[in-house]
Amino acid sequence: MNEGFSNLVTHIGDFLDKTQDGYAIFSMDDVLIGCNQAFADILYLNTELIIGQTFEQLYREIYKNQKGPIINTTDIDQWLIEANKKRRSRDFRIFEIDLKDGRWFLVSEQISDKGELLLHAKNITKQKVLEHNLHQHTSELSNLAATDELTQISNRRSFISQVSSEINRCERNKLPACFCLLDIDYFKKVNDEYGHITGDQVLVELAEVINSLLREYDPFGRIGGEEFGLFFPDTTIEQGQEICQRLCELIVATNFNSPAMPINITVSIGVVEYWQGATFEQLYSQADNALYEAKDAGRNQIAIHD
Ligand code: GH3
Ligand code: MG
Ligand code: MG
Repeated sequence: MNEGFSNLVTHIGDFLDKTQDGYAIFSMDDVLIGCNQAFADILYLNTELIIGQTFEQLYREIYKNQKGPIINTTDIDQWLIEANKKRRSRDFRIFEIDLKDGRWFLVSEQISDKGELLLHAKNITKQKVLEHNLHQHTSELSNLAATDELTQISNRRSFISQVSSEINRCERNKLPACFCLLDIDYFKKVNDEYGHITGDQVLVELAEVINSLLREYDPFGRIGGEEFGLFFPDTTIEQGQEICQRLCELIVATNFNSPAMPINITVSIGVVEYWQGATFEQLYSQADNALYEAKDAGRNQIAIHD
């Protein structure tokens, strides 16, 4: 033993009861032979009473008290069987535990040549809280990045990505599908007559009306301005046409804005049937052609690309 190491062994004891980290040593047959105060605090057990107890006895006590480490089970016997299987499965193990009081610890277990087990539990609550917040922010950000700010439906980018993955699914499973572009008729007039803010309100309500008729998993997004995209997987062109017909009728019958100043609008829809191998761009371009046909033919109608 070199001098530095023996000095470490002599002095480390002074620190063990100051540190927030829990330390414990278990014998070869899993009896707790020593621990510091922090370890007892993690278990919410009394230091004097836990020395000489086995790992199993400690965990039964913790389970009974419902304090300290969270034991997620209704069957403690089965839980201990699983825990014992893992416990000495390797010379070194590292894992996280969470406590009823909200703290988190990173636990490492090192087995010595004699078969004794040194447990070290490091408080990682701060890191866990940061990790949780970061995770929440990331998911909020990705929601924001995928959502159209005005209507709260998918934006163009997110719609394209949803349609692309649905296209792949239809391709794999040889499913029929329909792609539709919907554009409000003479929307400029609505803005001119009622103002841009009321125009915005009509867009918001239109998205709600359309949503009310869709299945939950049908991609629906605002492509831009007053143009919306729809994709109906597992839907034949006849069924797609029927849905679009119902959409047109529902929109015509809806009073937008307010009961005091109802605004009525119509829409035109271009529909194209998905074919095996079709890309988003191809579907978009053909639905766009069909949409122009519907506009040309007098609006408030559907045109199918053939
Ligand atoms: P058409 O029947 O040919 O589609 O006529 P339209 O007036 O709807 O079409 P056009 O493309 O000429 O004009 C679209 C108008 O939609 C232009 C713009 O004033 C309006 N618009 C586009 N985006 C928004 C928006 O976010 N809010 C509001 N209020 N109006 C918008
Ligand atoms: Mg328009
Ligand atoms: Mg338009």
